[in-house]
Amino acid sequence: MPDAPDAPAAPLSSIAALKPVWERFRDGGVALCPVDAAPMALAVDGSVDVYRFVCVRCGTSSPWFEAKLAGRISIKGQSGDLGASDE
Ligand SMILES: [Zn+2]
Repeated sequence: MPDAPDAPAAPLSSIAALKPVWERFRDGGVALCPVDAAPMALAVDGSVDVYRFVCVRCGTSSPWFEAKLAGRISIKGQSGDLGASDE
């Protein structure tokens, strides 16, 4: 029974995976689905400035995340901030 700590998680379920997608989108690019490379739409919960990407083709979605100044993002319900510098 292999123990696979590096097994792939759900698409975009980590800051490390989500951050470059968000940064590309923020810079005017298109966020592409990690599953089928279709464009992803940005869903916004405007009341709390929380976002997530949802693939327009297959429905793959990222977790809800908060976008902060200077490109920092954090995923709701997750601790740790991989790939981002500390404040
Ligand atoms: Zn997709």
